[in-house]
Amino acid sequence: VSLESQLVAWLQAKIPPQECVSLGLGDDAAVLRGGDGADVVVTTDMLTDGVDFLLDQVDLRAVGHKALGVNLSDLAAMAAVPTAAFVSLVLPRTGSQNFSALELAQELFQGMFPLAEDFGVAIAGGDTNTWDGPLAISITALGATTERGPLVRAGGKPGDKLLVTGSLGGSLLGRHLQVEPRVREALMLHACYDLHAGIDISDGLALDVSRLAAASDCGAVLDLSAIPLTEAAHRMSQQDGRTPWEHALGDGEDFELVLAVAAEIAEKIIQEQPLKIPLTAIGELIAEPGLWQTTAGQPTPLAPTGFIHE
Ligand SMILES: [Mg+2]
Repeated sequence: VSLESQLVAWLQAKIPPQECVSLGLGDDAAVLRGGDGADVVVTTDMLTDGVDFLLDQVDLRAVGHKALGVNLSDLAAMAAVPTAAFVSLVLPRTGSQNFSALELAQELFQGMFPLAEDFGVAIAGGDTNTWDGPLAISITALGATTERGPLVRAGGKPGDKLLVTGSLGGSLLGRHLQVEPRVREALMLHACYDLHAGIDISDGLALDVSRLAAASDCGAVLDLSAIPLTEAAHRMSQQDGRTPWEHALGDGEDFELVLAVAAEIAEKIIQEQPLKIPLTAIGELIAEPGLWQTTAGQPTPLAPTGFIHE
């Protein structure tokens, strides 16, 4: 059990329900009641040098892109329309890679601007500090729900099929920085089909599916042979001897979406393939709690591998 999930459980017990919060701790983002208009979806993510990237080895604009991209991916998981982002930086006083602290900050923002423009996100504020420690970037992103309301983790039902966008595994070979938030895909699907639940894959398919299932009071069974694999998952498998499926299940940072939908809707979506990227059925929710895999019919327990934030 991670420090974060322990802290969330403690906070959930401490913080009473509040009128203005329609969905609080424990999903991809929170939902605040917006009066008569759309509700406001809020998510925040922090990246730290030495944990999420190595500052002296990485393209600073790629770090900026990723810092915003992971937040937009959480808004995608809620099927929210991104509106604004607030960027807080704690900069190493002496800068990095021959960049001064100011230039370092500017490089990070240069990496965010194209993504912000692409998704109509206003960078509307933030805070900047310097210190003698490593770089930390915290972004809070805001979105608006559509008339369909937010897509949450808790709406799945036993018998729902689990669909995944794109393909999975091996993100360390580059994709973990080149986040392509599935915002448009989520909004399109949410508008056209009845989706029960959704989550983005930040920490690993196995771990994130088990989170969606648990939030829906279900278990999940995955058909490993159906999981769409990236070329990077195969390449990493050749390098380290782990199977490509282990990479797809546990690597994380794919930033694809997992959706739970009723079986007949899933069949329709798979047949229609309404996105530019493939949608694949990889398993289903079941009444029995826990995470399972099927190989030749009989379900066996599957470890919820993935990246645990300490
Ligand atoms: Mg998420």
